Amino acid sequence: MAWHTSAMPELPEVETVARDLQRWVAGAQITDAEVRWERTIAHPQPATLFVEQIRGARISRVGRRAKSVLVHLADGRVMTVALRMTGALIVAPPGAPDDPYARVVFHLADGRELRYRDPRKFGRIGLWEGGGLRARRHRGRRVGEAPAAYRVGDVFGRHGPEPLASTFSSARLAARLHGRSARLKTLLLDQSFIAGVGNIYADEALWRARLHPLRRADTLTRDEVRRLHRSIRSVLRQGIANRGASFSDYVDAQGEAGENGERLSVYRRTGEPCYRCGTPISRIVVGQRSTHFCPRCQPGPISAAGSEPRPPAAEVSA
Ligand SMILES: [Zn+2]
Repeated sequence: MAWHTSAMPELPEVETVARDLQRWVAGAQITDAEVRWERTIAHPQPATLFVEQIRGARISRVGRRAKSVLVHLADGRVMTVALRMTGALIVAPPGAPDDPYARVVFHLADGRELRYRDPRKFGRIGLWEGGGLRARRHRGRRVGEAPAAYRVGDVFGRHGPEPLASTFSSARLAARLHGRSARLKTLLLDQSFIAGVGNIYADEALWRARLHPLRRADTLTRDEVRRLHRSIRSVLRQGIANRGASFSDYVDAQGEAGENGERLSVYRRTGEPCYRCGTPISRIVVGQRSTHFCPRCQPGPISAAGSEPRPPAAEVSA
């Protein structure tokens, strides 16, 4: 169905994949790799060079940055996997039937395969030098070092902070919102503003914070910023706890769809009653993205600028 294409893995879905892979493939050795769709390999190119460089590598741990899975290798290099729309990383036991959608297959020393499956082929895999996740860019200036091997930090150089990091405080969010005239929905989707949030969790966070998606970032009160900060983190944590949303072709590393899709509050609930006040959920389009909100709990930007109607006191805590 067409609407399946509009949802893609966000922070909770990618985090779920990374945590599963950490359990299953940390310590495994990649004896060989097959690239079946060359354009999946973003770096190094050509794909034959990628295969040459990954052969023999040992996986030390698996993590995440923004919406990418990070496969850390024992020698310090990092393989990044951007799942984009329909990508999935699946661990197949020895003798498992082949998968026609597997674009890259990593053969592990114990006979298992780590398969990068991607029906629509938008995802990208890169292999980079390590050296920390920070880009070699500090306060807008390049520091030190002549152009060297492209490092993993540079891949994420333009990404904003991780919303679940302990350093991502309400004060930090307030500083980032300060002086920005952009609409909240637009900003939340902007990966340079905050990493990992996409259409689902942006709508969920705004509903929970009782903020209209079209509010200008610089009109938020301190209390509203605090609410937004808390809401972003709680919807992402809930998403991780439920192993991701089940929309789109997203599947976790076992090939199972997540459960969070059934537990969303506004996303794709157009016309259904708001869980807080019973008002039918509205849908508008912001920057070509479907946006779902409660017109009563999330008062519009015009009324918010003047006398903001008091939102209903009762709040669903789940
Ligand atoms: Zn409501």
